[in-house]
Amino acid sequence: MSTPTFPARAELVIDRAALRHNVRLLKQHAPSAAMMVVVKADGYGHGLAEAANAAREAGAEWIGCATIDEAVRVRDSGDQGRILCWLTVPGEAYVPAIVREIEVTAYSTDELAEIVRAAGECGLPARVQLKVDTGLSRGGAPEAEWDELFAAAAWAQDRGGIVVTGVWSHLACSDEPEHPANDAQEATFRDALARAHAAGLRPEVEHLANSAATLLRPSSHFSLVRCGIASYGLDPAPDVAHGVRLRPAMTARAQIALVKGIAAGSGVSYGHTYLTDTDTNVALVPVGYGDGVLRYASSRVSVWVAGKQRPLIGRVCMDQFVLDLGEDTVVPGEPAVLFGNGDHGEPTATDWAIACETINYEIVTRIGGRFTRRYVDSGFDRPDEVG
Ligand SMILES: *Cc1c(COP(=O)(O)O)cnc(C)c1O
Repeated sequence: MSTPTFPARAELVIDRAALRHNVRLLKQHAPSAAMMVVVKADGYGHGLAEAANAAREAGAEWIGCATIDEAVRVRDSGDQGRILCWLTVPGEAYVPAIVREIEVTAYSTDELAEIVRAAGECGLPARVQLKVDTGLSRGGAPEAEWDELFAAAAWAQDRGGIVVTGVWSHLACSDEPEHPANDAQEATFRDALARAHAAGLRPEVEHLANSAATLLRPSSHFSLVRCGIASYGLDPAPDVAHGVRLRPAMTARAQIALVKGIAAGSGVSYGHTYLTDTDTNVALVPVGYGDGVLRYASSRVSVWVAGKQRPLIGRVCMDQFVLDLGEDTVVPGEPAVLFGNGDHGEPTATDWAIACETINYEIVTRIGGRFTRRYVDSGFDRPDEVG
């Protein structure tokens, strides 16, 4: 993303105070566990290093990343705390992680062997966590391989090649608290921990919960919770009550480029999928799917302009889309808020997700392209202002 110019044509405004507020609320909600804030995928679109930095200010003991590359960027931004990453491929360069005391994850004995070899090259022990598959059927060792993985890890640890700092797993259905997979996965995880202990491992952290489980399933908190989406103020399960007042940290806005009247019966945007039924005023917003505005949002979402939500009409193009202002008119340059925290009546990323039949994660993670980012600090989280 480029350096912001003012007034910005299109910008993402990120409120660091909202990030801190969410992390603190989540910590209070899981008081027995340490907090890992997950900053993969450029901090879910909020900025990797900036999100990590705000999370540390709010007391996050851990930062979580998918790739080593992301973890290295967090470390090299000056971060001195614990960092875990968990997605590598055969032949991965582990040395940059090991020398930076970034903790890596092994899903298999093959991965563990590569990590041990890299640790030998560095002459430093690698800090390793072991991931077990408890029913997601994605990453992690399948149950049939647990004992072999635990034994290999204990063996390498005894020889000083690695330190096993954690054992963990990931839930499939935590946004549906009544789903039977939650109980099943938690029971399977407890079994995995017992078998790790039997192999002689005493990992410092044992963890299972993502944001939804942090909010909705206290029995899954163990010694650490991993919160991604909720740290950014977005609810992983918008339909399930939990009483934690999250605050969205991102506002996506653009300046209106052009306003004009068009006649009844006009086709709007490519393919004329939308026809006006009356004479109306339309506004051109200069962002599109090239900036991560989902094309699927065509004629489905609203954007806040001059105190009202205005329907997006016709197709979202690569660089632009059209809003229907009805009888109202505004001057070009007026801000159009695609989504924000909802304080003023603007849509939220969750509103966009529902309209686009996706999840709020995808809305904020995909937005980018030619939007610039600007960090603000609203001071919203000052103790005297938190209700
Ligand atoms: C992305 C991710 C998380 C965070 O999930 P949220 O639902 O955003 O809280 C936690 N753990 C793992 C392994 C992940 O990949």
